[in-house]
Amino acid sequence: MEPLITALTALLGPKHVIVDPHDLAGLARDGRGAFGRPLCAVRPATAALVACVLQLCRDFGAVAVPRGAGTGLSGGGCADDSGSQIVILTDGLGGAIAINAANRTATIGAGVRLSALNAAARDHGLFLPIDLGADPSIGGMIATNTGGARLLLHGDMRRHVRAIEVVLGDSDIVQLGSPLWKDNSALDLKQMFIGAGGATGIVTGATISLTPLPRHQVTAMLALADARSAVDLLLSAERQFGTLLTAFEGLSMSAVEAALDHVPGLTPPFPHAQPGYIAMLELSGNAVCDTATLENALAEWCAPFMQAEGPVLDAVVDSGGRHWAIRHAIPEGIRHRGSVIACDIAVRRGDIMTCRAHLSTEAAARWPDLAVHDFGHVGDGGLHFNLVWPHRLGSIPPGLAEAVRTCVFDIVVRHYGGSFSAEHGVGPRNIDHYRRLTPAATQRLSARIVEQFSAANATFKQG
Ligand SMILES: Cc1cc2nc3c(=O)[nH]c(=O)nc-3n(C[C@H](O)[C@H](O)[C@H](O)COP(=O)(O)OP(=O)(O)OC[C@H]3O[C@@H](n4cnc5c(N)ncnc54)[C@H](O)[C@@H]3O)c2cc1C
Repeated sequence: MEPLITALTALLGPKHVIVDPHDLAGLARDGRGAFGRPLCAVRPATAALVACVLQLCRDFGAVAVPRGAGTGLSGGGCADDSGSQIVILTDGLGGAIAINAANRTATIGAGVRLSALNAAARDHGLFLPIDLGADPSIGGMIATNTGGARLLLHGDMRRHVRAIEVVLGDSDIVQLGSPLWKDNSALDLKQMFIGAGGATGIVTGATISLTPLPRHQVTAMLALADARSAVDLLLSAERQFGTLLTAFEGLSMSAVEAALDHVPGLTPPFPHAQPGYIAMLELSGNAVCDTATLENALAEWCAPFMQAEGPVLDAVVDSGGRHWAIRHAIPEGIRHRGSVIACDIAVRRGDIMTCRAHLSTEAAARWPDLAVHDFGHVGDGGLHFNLVWPHRLGSIPPGLAEAVRTCVFDIVVRHYGGSFSAEHGVGPRNIDHYRRLTPAATQRLSARIVEQFSAANATFKQG
């Protein structure tokens, strides 16, 4: 593969072709850990250069792996372990962030980070309302159709993408969609690239719709005696608050304790109560709903549930971001507890607590050494069902993680009609489960579509 590296260097210059093993090792990790070994990584600065890189990949029979911020959780932004794949870094695809305030859109390069987009949009009183505990690139968010904690009101990335620029496997550069709010003049082909994990093309730019920033945001954490009351509380909150309700999360006590134990600066929400589970909800509003009004509305709604024998033991309201700090610290806290076996699942909202109890019972019976540290987006039926192999027991036994994930996914898909990948995509970490659990006809149709976009010689990684 030396001639390919020489050709890439001639195209992009040595500064933009990474071959140093130490630097490459850093690019073989994502948000969940190490995966694979790239031949090299390249940093093209324009869509035209991405097209030329793909031309060289075709000439030399190499597979290209697009990579944004590397915060993905299913291994999709990492090369496989063949040592022959080329990682295409998109952080060179930045440039100016063009905000059209009247149209409420931003036109940006795919390498721009979510934080940079929101910093620019804030000056116009706007933001992209997808909230997560990482800072991904816009291209990565499109490729994984990022969900996040406010999906309940604002939906996933699919809802916010108006147009994309994409480089196909045959090096064609196409613009799909438009900045218009409505446009039914052609097939909506951009959807073939949203949530496709980079298997259909490399997104190089996008026009994203923005939302007015709420002026006031208030959260409440509710200490529940029993997790099973969370769904009734969700329904009650939806009836009471309508579109003011922007998030409804569920946190197991083990997950919250892990965050409090290991992440500095967090305050225990219930120092004097011993809840079985915590529900966290957020209300957001504008000038007619100031912070005090939102706080009072939450307290008033909650009061009947806190009477004797009611499902809520205690409640605390916050408008200073303290509850979100705990919520976002959970993944880091859990990692400190041991080796995490992560299952990113979704079921119908009404089934989420039954499914959670079913999985916990099954796990305790089969693997008593594993501790459940789950948290989830109760508002959209998403559950991060994490099992932790504690550090005190040494290395995780070979094969255990896959045995656990297989058992969990079988229950979720076959028993509850749920999803084995709610928001992190398929990627190499889930590809075997995709092959097992996705109907064969759906797989055949998907393969035919991917083939159309990725060119006959399969320039892009599959899965
Ligand atoms: C702490 C933490 C919390 C998270 N919370 C959430 C959450 O709540 N909801 C959620 O949905 N996700 C969550 N994630 C996952 C992750 O942040 C998202 O999947 C994110 O959108 C990935 O973006 P990235 O730029 O990091 O992509 P990468 O990790 O670099 O890549 C992800 C996938 O997209 C492809 N890709 C990247 N850029 C492009 C491009 N320009 N064109 C084509 N394909 C491309 C890659 O090949 C890969 O398959 C979380 C991750 C962490 C670490």
